[in-house]
Amino acid sequence: MKLKNYMEDAVREAAADLLAKRTDVCKCSRCRLDIIAYALNHLPAKYVVTDKGHTYTRVAEMAQQFHTDLVVALHKAIKHVGKNPRH
Ligand SMILES: [Zn+2]
Repeated sequence: MKLKNYMEDAVREAAADLLAKRTDVCKCSRCRLDIIAYALNHLPAKYVVTDKGHTYTRVAEMAQQFHTDLVVALHKAIKHVGKNPRH
């Protein structure tokens, strides 16, 4: 059994999707991680106890519930990091 912040996985996934569609932002690993960190700092942590099978249903439910917040946070993160790149 492991304790895991589900929000981190959700943000990493959504960031990959969003960045794939953007051509105006730097996608180096530094900027990518800065975007993920910024978004995560503006979203609630969502801890789940993982025992494989069960987790996925919970994760799918939460993904729907938080999708809008997540996308909003990521857009802010992309804007912020794009203006202040640290690479
Ligand atoms: Zn960069």
